[in-house]
Amino acid sequence: MERLSVDVAIIGGGIVGCAAALALRKAGLTVALLEKGLCGAQASGINAGGVRQQGRHVTELPMTRRAAKLWPRLHETLGEDVEFRQVGHLRLARSEQDVQMLEDYAVTAREHGLYLQLNSGTVTREMFPWVSGKIAGSSLAVEDGHANPRLVTPAYSRAARSHGVHVLEFTPVEHAQWTGSNFEIQAPRLVVKSRHLVNAAGAWAGKFLSFFGESAPLTLRTPNLFVTEPVSYFMTKSIAVCGGAVYFRQVERGNVVLGGGPGWGDLKSERSRNRADTTLGQFARAIELVPELSGLHIIRSWSGLEGDLPDKLPIIGASRTTPNLVHAFGLCGHGFQLGPAIGEILCELIRDGRSQTPIDAFCISRFDAVAHQKMAGAG
Ligand SMILES: Cc1cc2nc3c(=O)[nH]c(=O)nc-3n(C[C@H](O)[C@H](O)[C@H](O)COP(=O)(O)OP(=O)(O)OC[C@H]3O[C@@H](n4cnc5c(N)ncnc54)[C@H](O)[C@@H]3O)c2cc1C
Repeated sequence: MERLSVDVAIIGGGIVGCAAALALRKAGLTVALLEKGLCGAQASGINAGGVRQQGRHVTELPMTRRAAKLWPRLHETLGEDVEFRQVGHLRLARSEQDVQMLEDYAVTAREHGLYLQLNSGTVTREMFPWVSGKIAGSSLAVEDGHANPRLVTPAYSRAARSHGVHVLEFTPVEHAQWTGSNFEIQAPRLVVKSRHLVNAAGAWAGKFLSFFGESAPLTLRTPNLFVTEPVSYFMTKSIAVCGGAVYFRQVERGNVVLGGGPGWGDLKSERSRNRADTTLGQFARAIELVPELSGLHIIRSWSGLEGDLPDKLPIIGASRTTPNLVHAFGLCGHGFQLGPAIGEILCELIRDGRSQTPIDAFCISRFDAVAHQKMAGAG
């Protein structure tokens, strides 16, 4: 049995775990990252690549703003080009009611330093002639964009390893416990002893809550994605629509990546796949917004396994039951953009005991009231 002793052990080599590993190691701590497969092979590696601040819940705005400052420098941080392109994110409104929603949101976003450019339907068409004439208005976030998810997390894990993190792939954590002074984390033929533990196990994080007598209403989310054949690059912005029905972007190579609606997945068998009815419905909705997409061939479709929570906000912060245990999971389908900032936040929580970015809204205890209400109701 091999034994390893570190300051911090991290369960999960997605973008959250890998970004935390790099930040913690740079802060001078010794780190072991335990990943059951390959780093970035789950949600972090198969997502739609949207690097978007616009449209986020108000409590996520400070964290998304922090992340937005990190993305343009990520190629320097990681020493690799991860195809981050700051093309801008265009949110389309289909009705006057949606236009009002965009205007209201722009006021809130501005309070957090996120400036959104509001355009009428006519101006939207003048700027982006490929948008449907039926659009009533739009909001443009020029700092937003997209990146290649297949590159980002593996690049993080390589950077972490080159800084001295023990990146342990194909190392499934089977059990973890607090001994009173340390954590003991067990994987096949390996025991890791650590002072701190980070639960960044994505959709599987519930298993690690149970080891420490905690719970959260974590469920499975399986977003549906698909990609078209390549065509000449014309769609210069990442696109979303009020109501969130569909989102899409074109990469420089020409393929259009589209998403929205549910796919299918099973956590136990780790299987996920697209749903044909969702794919065809989303494609029709996208064509209504950008008619030039009509007639393109869909060449691949897929889904992935992501943790979901009832209020669509993540759990990030200290455990209620166990000292030195920090959780960061349940990113509800929009954690790729946030990942670099969450890594830094986790580092601050462990090193300083508090984060510079407000995260109280993401505490695990917010679900206690719900559980108590349910129990009271059942009685
Ligand atoms: C189809 C899809 C599309 C999405 N599109 C976007 C988008 O466009 N923009 C955006 O911002 N977000 C998007 N997201 C969300 C984003 O991908 C996730 O929020 C983010 O990747 C979560 O990162 P993570 O590190 O928490 O989880 P994960 O990437 O799932 O990483 C968790 C890791 O923990 C490991 N693990 C689990 N159990 C164990 C164990 N016992 N031992 C060791 N390791 C273990 C897993 O193998 C996994 O690698 C999308 C998600 C999906 C699924």
